[in-house]
Amino acid sequence: MATIDGLPPLREVIRAHDLVAKKQLGQNFLLDLNLTAKIARSAGDLSGADVLEVGPGPGGLTRGLLAEGARHVVAVEKDPRALPALAQIAQACPGRLTVLQGDALELDVSAHLTPPVKVVANLPYNVGTELLIRWLTPGTWPPFWQSLTLMFQKEVAERIVAQPRGDHYGRLALLAQWRCEPRIVMHLPPEAFTPAPKVHSAVVHLTRLEAPRYPAPEKILGRITAMAFNQRRKMLRSSLKALGRDIEARLERVGIPPTARAEEIGLEAFCALARSFE
Ligand code: SAM
Repeated sequence: MATIDGLPPLREVIRAHDLVAKKQLGQNFLLDLNLTAKIARSAGDLSGADVLEVGPGPGGLTRGLLAEGARHVVAVEKDPRALPALAQIAQACPGRLTVLQGDALELDVSAHLTPPVKVVANLPYNVGTELLIRWLTPGTWPPFWQSLTLMFQKEVAERIVAQPRGDHYGRLALLAQWRCEPRIVMHLPPEAFTPAPKVHSAVVHLTRLEAPRYPAPEKILGRITAMAFNQRRKMLRSSLKALGRDIEARLERVGIPPTARAEEIGLEAFCALARSFE
């Protein structure tokens, strides 16, 4: 039986299993095992943790996670063509890799995971933001995961860590920063992937906070930020008009100038505004 280091190179695996990349599945593979090990390390110490990986493909990152000592990796892959390659890895690491075939947007993986759980994934770009939003908005907080280490296109990564007045600042920054500490830990050029995508990529590491950074009712905060950023160039007294005739006074009460625009207002002030509706 091969050990993880004795497995064939990924190019060979792809050839042997005819894993020609499919665009509709967002397949841009990482074939450099030094790079996948580096991404695995950016998730922190994996030795005592279960790892949820979405979209393992031929298994480059999966190998990195196992080699870095993950206790157990649960990998969800939509493409059945990848299963034989992943089975080879499972064989090399008995009992440490569970592969589930299906759509990560539909499968409930909770029964397969034991806390602490870290999510690490080179996500398919077409489902990445949706998965992130789901992980950030579970029914109860703290969520099932301790941290998320995720590949995104660079522009999405910048939206996650953006600060007020920046071009990328918006609802995703507020949502991510309300309950997590997000930071960009790696930048990757298109050539790092096979085939090379058109865009640059970045890995974002989000560590969950045990409680939101500032208290606020979640639904109201979501509604306010949606209204504010749907018309981001308008003054708040106008974009939030539907929240009541007293909106101007309310904004002033929580220290927000009614003539300010959404992109100028920080998370703390949005939370204070949301609390004023409680
Ligand atoms: N992790 C591999 C790597 O780093 O080389 C592959 C990454 S590739 C960008 C995205 C992977 O996600 C592909 O293997 C694709 O088949 C898989 N995928 C796409 N949509 C998916 C979904 N809805 N659920 C689970 N896997 C999906």
